[in-house]
Amino acid sequence: MSATIEHVIAGRRSADGGRRIPVTDPATGAVIAEVAAATAEQLDATVAAARTAQEKWAQTSLTARAAVLFALRDQLVARRDEVAAVISREHGKTLPDAQGEITRGLEIVEFACGLPHLLKGEYADQVSTGVDTYSYREPVGVCAGITPFNFPAMVPLWMAPLAIAAGNAFVLKPSERDPGAAVVLADLFAAAGLPDGVFSVLHGGAELVDAICTHPGIDTVSFVGSTPVAQHVHALASGAGKRVQALGGAKNHAVVLPDADLDEAAGHLVAAGYGSAGQRCMAISAVVAVGDDDQVARLVGAVAEKGRAVVVGPSSRSDVEMGPVISAESRSRILQIIDEAEAGGATVALDGRELRVDGHEDGYFVGPTLLEATTESRAYREEIFGPVLTVVRAPDLAGAIDLVNAGPWGNGAAIFTSSGAAARTFARAVQAGMVGVNVPIPVPTGAFSFGGRKASLFGDTHVYGVEGLHFYTRAKVMTSRWPESGLAAAEHSLNFPT
Ligand code: NAD
Repeated sequence: MSATIEHVIAGRRSADGGRRIPVTDPATGAVIAEVAAATAEQLDATVAAARTAQEKWAQTSLTARAAVLFALRDQLVARRDEVAAVISREHGKTLPDAQGEITRGLEIVEFACGLPHLLKGEYADQVSTGVDTYSYREPVGVCAGITPFNFPAMVPLWMAPLAIAAGNAFVLKPSERDPGAAVVLADLFAAAGLPDGVFSVLHGGAELVDAICTHPGIDTVSFVGSTPVAQHVHALASGAGKRVQALGGAKNHAVVLPDADLDEAAGHLVAAGYGSAGQRCMAISAVVAVGDDDQVARLVGAVAEKGRAVVVGPSSRSDVEMGPVISAESRSRILQIIDEAEAGGATVALDGRELRVDGHEDGYFVGPTLLEATTESRAYREEIFGPVLTVVRAPDLAGAIDLVNAGPWGNGAAIFTSSGAAARTFARAVQAGMVGVNVPIPVPTGAFSFGGRKASLFGDTHVYGVEGLHFYTRAKVMTSRWPESGLAAAEHSLNFPT
């Protein structure tokens, strides 16, 4: 009998009602748990409890709220390995990689600890005779977060700490493919002293997402996942009158100019392309090589050589650098895209299709793969979300920028060069929300905000940092007059006040 992963509703665990969804270990293909799918009644009960808890939580002083966030930080640090083990078991990424995502999530908790400073408003004395104006930000109410499988702890931590710091309640709907970390996060919030109902976890699939997007008791929806679902969530929840930020998929390009240190660039490309089996929204999946045939051949050769050395296997082995992909469907789709690319004339410079891991023959492993393809190839045109790097060519920097900007996504983009002028030209022209110069995965640290452009973000607010705080709060501007006795009475003209 496998374990059942429960909801956390008003501080209580429950797996009542609803159907069950199997959770598999991607390294073996075996079902290791099942997760309960919430019913409409459970969503109603969760939102009602969140509303009640939020009204009280919003009245809690900023110092008391900050104390909970500091305690959450301590909990996350103390129990990092426990959370990482859950992530690694259900997702398949290595333990150090799972610990890394918790460390990046911690940055947002630390940023949120500064809420007494972050929530300070503005004040203008004497905007008119005897009149002062001040502004501040109020919580929005009940906020929902719908998150993807690839960062089961970090992406919820992009959202919940700031929403809660600002005085909201937060309802998390994690990916049904690796839902365990969300439940541990609920434990950590509770151990940090957060009142019941302020942070809840509800599991489920597409039907629960749609119910969240249209639920009248939910005020905001933060979504991170694939582009078609991001677009759907944005349309549905906006149509229901909610504030929405919906982050979608990506095809992040790295441009390598001939003046770059090719060996150094190749090392970064291997780490950014094959880390977490290529299942990062900021993974590099397209390489735009600029240079003569010899230079491009040297780059391809260096990436292939380093990629071939990557140790692939189950995350339970400490020597492993890259785990499996998330599902059997994902593996077959990736293999099909590589087959199609080859049939269409692409060169397979490194082939991960035949990789087998001893003792894990039913695991969803794909080895690091390197293709040299044209921009017409599906391998270049689609987000693969697997360990496949596709190299295309551009004649010069301008051509490379045109290529990057021609794609439908605009999450991250990177350039490898030793020329400051080329880097500056690239950074200013490229249509991406996050740009790296000799940095392949330019994920902003917690005090900045994360977000892409075009099909990588629907809605106009990025997540975390100051933009995240704005998303989870609403401005109020107060204008007040306190007449003093003896002063002339205010005019009561019917004209517009000036
Ligand atoms: P996904 O879109 O399949 O799932 C994301 C969430 O949406 C899950 O909670 C899932 O239950 C729900 N969902 C899935 N299908 C749905 C449907 N038809 N209707 C309503 N809800 C649905 O994404 P995933 O496979 O879990 O994650 C990988 C994708 O997420 C990639 O495309 C990746 O680029 C993207 N991603 C983007 C970012 C970013 O910051 N832009 C970050 C992480 C992941």
